Amino acid sequence: MSLDRSSAFSHAGSGAGANASRCRRCGILVGHGEHCDFCQQRPTGYVDPPGEYVGRHHTEWIATLDQLLLQGDTDAAEFLLVRLVDATEAESLLDGVPPFERHFSRLGQIARSRGDDKLSRDLRRRFKQCSQRAPAAKRETG
Ligand SMILES: [Zn+2]
Repeated sequence: MSLDRSSAFSHAGSGAGANASRCRRCGILVGHGEHCDFCQQRPTGYVDPPGEYVGRHHTEWIATLDQLLLQGDTDAAEFLLVRLVDATEAESLLDGVPPFERHFSRLGQIARSRGDDKLSRDLRRRFKQCSQRAPAAKRETG
C-alpha cells in the first residue's frame, strides 16, 4: 500500500538544502528520524477531530509550512494549507472559536500567485463565514 498523501511531500528535494527532515507518513517537520511520534503509533483508520490534521492541532503545522515555503515547495505548502484551512474552519464552525486567519491568508496568497481567483474568493467567503459564526472572536493586534 502506498500512501498518496506522502508523495505530495516527496518532490521537495530540488537542491533546496533541507537540513530538517519531515515525517515520511504525514509530512510534519521532525528533528530526526523518519517518522514523527504520532505516526509511529497511529492506528490505521484514525479520524481527526475538528481542528486537527493527522493527529495534530492545525497550529502545530506552522513550522512545517514555514519550512516548505522557505524551500519554495509551493505545491506541498498548498496541499497542507488546504487541509489546515479545513481544520480551522471545522473547529471554528463546531466550537465557535475564531478561525485562524493566517492559514486562509497564506493559501489565498498562493491562490493569487497562481491566478486562481475562484479559490481566493472562496477563501475570503469561508473566512468571513467562520468569523461571523464566532462572535466571541477577539481581535488580536500585531
Ligand atoms: Zn507523522
